[in-house]
This record gives sequence, C-alpha cells and structure tokens, in this order.
Amino acid sequence: MSRVYNFSAGPAVLPEEVLQEAADEMLDYRGCGMSVMEMSHRSGTYQKIIDEAEADLRQLMGIPDNYKVLFLQGGASQQFAMIPMNLMKNRVADYIITGQWAKKAWKEASIYGKANAVASSEDQTFSYIPDCSDLPIDPDADYVYICENNTIYGTKFKTLPNTKGKPLVADVSSCFLSEPVDVTKYGMIYGGVQKNIGPAGVVIAIIREDLITEDVLPGTPTMLKYKIHADAKSLYNTPPAYGIYICGKVFKWLQKRGGLEAMKEYNEKKAKILYDFLDESKLFKGTVRKEDRSLMNVPFITGNADLDAKFVAEAKKNGLENLKGHRSVGGMRASIYNAMPMEGVEKLVAFMKEFEAQNQ
Ligand SMILES: *Cc1c(COP(=O)(O)O)cnc(C)c1O
Repeated sequence: MSRVYNFSAGPAVLPEEVLQEAADEMLDYRGCGMSVMEMSHRSGTYQKIIDEAEADLRQLMGIPDNYKVLFLQGGASQQFAMIPMNLMKNRVADYIITGQWAKKAWKEASIYGKANAVASSEDQTFSYIPDCSDLPIDPDADYVYICENNTIYGTKFKTLPNTKGKPLVADVSSCFLSEPVDVTKYGMIYGGVQKNIGPAGVVIAIIREDLITEDVLPGTPTMLKYKIHADAKSLYNTPPAYGIYICGKVFKWLQKRGGLEAMKEYNEKKAKILYDFLDESKLFKGTVRKEDRSLMNVPFITGNADLDAKFVAEAKKNGLENLKGHRSVGGMRASIYNAMPMEGVEKLVAFMKEFEAQNQ
C-alpha cells in the first residue's frame, strides 16, 4: 500500500489511524456481526455511536447546553437555503461577501427576503477580509452571515465582525475544529464535514436554542426545519449514519491529540513552514494579504500559468497530489487540514525549493 500526501480542498485527507480503525471494524462492528453501514439507525448500538459523537464534539468545542448540535444532510450548500427559511423572521439579513461560498449563500437568501451585502472583498479577488468593525447593520436584520474561512481564496476572519447585537451565522466548513472557538459569540456555526472532519454527506449545525422555533417561512419543507431535527435529536429520518460514525472517530482522534488548543498549535507550525517559504521564494508567491491568511488553505502562484501547470504535474509524480488551485484563482492551492501531517508540508516545501532551483 502506498498513500500520497493529499492536498485536496475537499473531500480531503483524513487521519490514517481513523481509516485503519474503520477498516478493522468494517465487516463486524465490535462483535455485533454487521457493519455500521448495515445497522438500523434505531438500534441501541447506533444510538450509542451518535450520542458519543455529539458528546465528544460538545467537549472539544466547549458547546454550552443552550446550543443544539444537529447532524444533517444536503451539504453546506443546503444550509444556504435552510438558514433564511428558519432564521429570517423579518425577512432581512446582512451578508459579508468574502468569496464564492459567501456569495452563493447571499444569493440564495435573496430568494427569501432582503439580503444586504454589507461588506465585500470582491474588488481584489477576495484576497483579503474587509474591515468589519463598523458595518451598516440593518436594524431589522435577523442575523449577520459570514464564511469564516474562505476555502478557495485562503483567507480567514481573525476577528469576528461587530454585528451590533445581531446573531452571527458562520460557515466554518473549511476551518471546523482547526482551533478553539468561543461558541457563545455565534447564533449558529455550521459546516460540511468533508473538509476537515469526515466523509461527504454530513453537515453539522450548532444552533442557539432560542433561534430554533416553529416560526419559519411559509412553505418550508418539513425536512428543512431545524426544529424537526432538533426535537428528534438528528434522528427524524435516517441520518447519514456511516458518515457520523467516522466523524465520531475523528473527534476521538482530536481528543487524543490534546483537543483544539493542541491542534491550533500544530496547524500554526505547519502553515508557518509553507508561508515562511512563500515569503522568501523568488518563484512562488502567496496571493493573500498576510494578516488574513488561513491556516487551512494556502493559495500560491508563480505568475506563469505554464509553469504552474508544470509544477502541479511534477508534484503529482512526487506523491504530492491535488495542488491545482481553484479555477477562479488559478495557480496552486495546498489545503493543509488537521489530518495533513507536518511531514506532508515539509515534503511539499522541499519539492518547491527543488522546483525553484530547476526553473529559475
Ligand atoms: C466546500 C464548501 C462549501 C460547499 O459544501 P457542499 O457540502 O459541497 O455544499 C460551502 N462553504 C465552504 C466554506 C466550503 O468550503
């Protein structure tokens, strides 16, 4: 068996220990004679799996009791509609546009009400986070929306926006569990798990209880109501059962590594290796304003599209995969999520140095 260093933005690298454990349990989950994939979601065995996953996530993030944790389906993109359907009581919300995911969420919300774009960094290809200390927050806004880590552009909010008392809703798909978080600062935190936690098919939504009500927009389908899923503890219908089981294993892996403080420290060290090289390199350049750099997604360019393509192809031959940048930015992007080991980034930088020497 040979595994590559996988720098994919998502679905993305998972901890090898987790994959190995899942492989060991594939045919017979702990003596019950079947795979978790084959098991009733109403069984006691599965109930224990989902309860433990929730408890471990609560422990990792320090989620207060007045927040619900929901395991949902439909991808992060389905939340672009669910959020306004459930939370836009006055049919007004403020959106901060820091990339394509935020923009898609904003466009979707405008189907249901007045979605204000109160700040944007589109003028410079989303290469920075706008100043959000004094935004023109609409007095009627039901919430303020951000995409906290911008997967495509490699920017991250280092300070949360001043929402002037409005609940903050954050898409954290690509920075979920990468560092400690103060949940009380948010009305809702959500993300697809396929970037930093588990297999595609699961979305985790952490929502303050008072925001989960029966009072949703008329016509909201039952399956798209937070209250339905909250009341049924994520078992209203068949949940993405196997995906949740893998997420649970990743939570335990994170606990074993020392939790989110330790992950932050590790992620900072890892990202620094790459950013330090980008700052000194004569060939490669980072594309993001320094103070807004993400720890998870690192875009870079040579400034020459042919050379970029050559780099991506040669990197692949050296076991460094999925380094091609998003089509809207070009160049390269290294996604270095929790499960990317330090050695992966060291190998990448060593290869970049070699490539630079040969392509002066
Ligand atoms: C990948 C991604 C999405 C889209 O996720 P899907 O699960 O494919 O809908 C949304 N937001 C962010 C920040 C992402 O990185």
